[in-house]
Amino acid sequence: MSTALVTGATAGIGRAFARRLAAEGYDLVLVARDSERLRSLAEQLRERYGTACESIPADLTEQAELREVEQRLEDPTRPIDLLVNNAGFGTSGAFWDTDPETLRAQVDLNVTAVLRLTRAAVPVMRGLGRGDVINVSSVAGFFPTSGSTYSATKSWVTTFSEGLSPSLAGSGVRVMALCPGFTRTEFHQRAQLEMSGLPRAFWLDADDLVHGAMDDLRKGRTVSVPGAQYKALVFLGRLVPNWLQRLIVSRAAPGRT
Ligand code: NAP
Repeated sequence: MSTALVTGATAGIGRAFARRLAAEGYDLVLVARDSERLRSLAEQLRERYGTACESIPADLTEQAELREVEQRLEDPTRPIDLLVNNAGFGTSGAFWDTDPETLRAQVDLNVTAVLRLTRAAVPVMRGLGRGDVINVSSVAGFFPTSGSTYSATKSWVTTFSEGLSPSLAGSGVRVMALCPGFTRTEFHQRAQLEMSGLPRAFWLDADDLVHGAMDDLRKGRTVSVPGAQYKALVFLGRLVPNWLQRLIVSRAAPGRT
């Protein structure tokens, strides 16, 4: 029996991963802050799929709580076969108006937790000669967005995964960056982003996205960009020179984080 650990499992993309992996027969370790939501998800997965679920209520921006999740990953007697580093958040408003503690927490969650949990998981996986890490990044990481700390954190996640993946070649351990575009979850509401103007064609469904991500992982992809519209956007974006990208962004959303 394989075991997967999913961070940010109580909502959106993480919850879709938890459901999908339970349906595939994984046992699960679910991580998020809201213990009541963790408890109810674990109960649903147990009832529906017979999944053995552990829950670790943890705020991954808090050192002691992050350490607890690291220790679970480091335990060779209960190995984790798949780590999904999914928890993350965005913000709205200008960089210079955003609470510095919120910005610090964003880097702690979107970057440091990904780094630390991958670092905790990989040695055990290498020792066993098998294991997978999916780091949930974003299409936003491919583009500079005005004053955007969020895009910067996601650029880090993609570049980190792209660098680690080939260095693990032949070890049996795979690392993939998953780069979604706009996906219907709680993300935008939590970030207080007004999204009513976004054309329907740009919205992704979390379950479809996870389905595609698992296919890409099994094909050995290092970077997964779900949805034809976002594959095209990333491809075309790479043809646009950086100076033009910056000009477009500065006209479109001045100062947004
Ligand atoms: P979401 O619906 O808001 O879910 C976020 C999850 O992360 C929740 O389970 C939340 O649970 C958990 N979480 C938040 N802060 C945490 C913390 N400090 N410690 C531990 N867990 C925490 O967002 P989502 O859209 O599914 O986002 C998942 C990932 O996809 C993120 O990395 C995001 O950047 C990325 N992404 C999203 C989109 C999109 O359009 N939705 C696009 C590209 C990339 P608790 O509140 O219970 O802790």
